[in-house]
Amino acid sequence: MSSFTLHGIPVSRGIAIGRAHLLAPAALDVKHYLVPEEHVEAEVVRLQSALATVHRELQTLWNELPKDAPTELGAFIDVHALILSDPMISEAPLDIIRSRHYNAEWALVTQIEELSAQFDEIEDAYLRERKADIQQVAERVLKVLLGTESLGLPNRVEPDDDEFAAQMVVVAHDISPADMLKFRDRSFIGFVTDVGGQNSHTAIVARSLDIPATVGVSQASNLIEQDDWVIIDGEAGVVIVSPSALVLQQYRDRQAAAQRARKKLGKLKKTPAVTKDGTVITLLANIELPDDCGPALEAGANGVGLFRSEFLFMGRAGDMPSEDEQFEQYRRAVVAMKGRPVTIRTLDIGADKPLDPTEHTALNPALGLRAIRYCLSEPQIFLAQLRAILRASAFGKLRILIPMLAHAHEIDQSLAMIELAKSELREANLKFDPNVEVGAMIEIPAAALALPMFVRKMHFLSIGTNDLIQYTLAIDRVDYEVAHLYNPLHPAVLQLISMTIAAGHKAGIDVAVCGEMAGDVKLTRLLLGMGLREFSMHPAQLLSVKQEILNSDMAVIGPHTRKILRSMDPDGIADAVLALQTM
Ligand code: PEP
Ligand code: MG
Repeated sequence: MSSFTLHGIPVSRGIAIGRAHLLAPAALDVKHYLVPEEHVEAEVVRLQSALATVHRELQTLWNELPKDAPTELGAFIDVHALILSDPMISEAPLDIIRSRHYNAEWALVTQIEELSAQFDEIEDAYLRERKADIQQVAERVLKVLLGTESLGLPNRVEPDDDEFAAQMVVVAHDISPADMLKFRDRSFIGFVTDVGGQNSHTAIVARSLDIPATVGVSQASNLIEQDDWVIIDGEAGVVIVSPSALVLQQYRDRQAAAQRARKKLGKLKKTPAVTKDGTVITLLANIELPDDCGPALEAGANGVGLFRSEFLFMGRAGDMPSEDEQFEQYRRAVVAMKGRPVTIRTLDIGADKPLDPTEHTALNPALGLRAIRYCLSEPQIFLAQLRAILRASAFGKLRILIPMLAHAHEIDQSLAMIELAKSELREANLKFDPNVEVGAMIEIPAAALALPMFVRKMHFLSIGTNDLIQYTLAIDRVDYEVAHLYNPLHPAVLQLISMTIAAGHKAGIDVAVCGEMAGDVKLTRLLLGMGLREFSMHPAQLLSVKQEILNSDMAVIGPHTRKILRSMDPDGIADAVLALQTM
């Protein structure tokens, strides 16, 4: 097959070389992993027994049909039993497990998708609608599988004879942030999606997993075929399909060079982040789950600047984590960070992080019932989370961060809810830190333009540049069609960031940036020049940013940044920011 190259939006650096594994959206609703050779037959048996269980269930349903039940009901059960016995369902998925080593759920869903695609092409409307029956049968089998354990979930496929042959690159139309998180510790080494933006939460999770990824590669899932060789250049946003031996070798060399560079950076772990002129900088980590504290400490983080607590809730609409479950997770993070501050952001659900992905979404979800708006409309959920966070504050240094604040009454109501949670804990004799600090995310332009409203009542501010850019420029951060207009260097964005930093410092409170700008080494000096002293980012980016800080001199950066902030010329700003990097 001849080689071709696709272009998209780079979201997570590094080079991945592997075989393409195509995932259709429905397949993402189930776990998917490769079963080790020795467990393949056990996995086949697992699916066979799930099929047999559903057979028995259908039989029982049939036997228990009331005498006066409509005849259609019996016919309906018969159809499902027939579908279940068809070799397309009872045998083909078993072959997939044997040949591709997919786990049972993945094999079943893969087969259902193939069948569904065939049904879509049928002209007869009645027959076409039988697709729904097939899906219902599959759902029954998946439900049974859910209750049975799979043997040997491998952490990572070991490369076989050919060093790269067993490594897989996921190609999908889209991947939700929650699904992306499920890929942690699995055998995938890179991601390509047809849609998505640089700062979508899916991209953010890919970055936090430190896996090369390119999104917005229009048609990738149509053009790339199962098992094609793929190179992802996550830095350039390029995907090379079926590369020549020469190109493959070039990328393998680049991969090796990048690994050497990373190893070298590792030596900076214990070095304090201080500029050449002695300005001390705090480097914090963004985390999605308590387990991310390990990599944060590994990278030498001074604490956690953003714990995106919504990742504990996503996909659990009918089964929200209880106060105790949350408390345990927050406590784990606080304890893991060994006295370093952990900033827990309250639930920022909505927009591209829905609680229930199947639920109807508003026309403009990013402008809808999201984050603090959602929490204030669901006081019981909010209170349970606040109590859980406060209880964890008894185990170490913890701060509370409120997302998406824009209105004075939202600030007041949030603070009142925290006080209410505290009084409930006092009544229940449960311990917490009474002086826990509360901060506001500044990520809506209205907030950045009304800072006195915030600095009077908040202990600290954290600038969410991802949303601040989205809302200032009216660019959907997940829409690749307008991704070229999503510009962190737009003068309006720079003004809002710099005003926030200045207002916070004037009021004597800490200001951090926890959006993706903080982890972009190309912007480190610009942010330093604006006066930023706290950067919060994914652990994987921390050492590169530290290196940039160590080589920076505020006496040089300061005046140059002030010039940039006075400019209204976008090209001039981009050139000047580039020049900053060489000063
Ligand atoms: C932001 O908006 O910059 C931010 C850090 O929050 P999130 O990306 O989770 O919206
Ligand atoms: Mg945000």
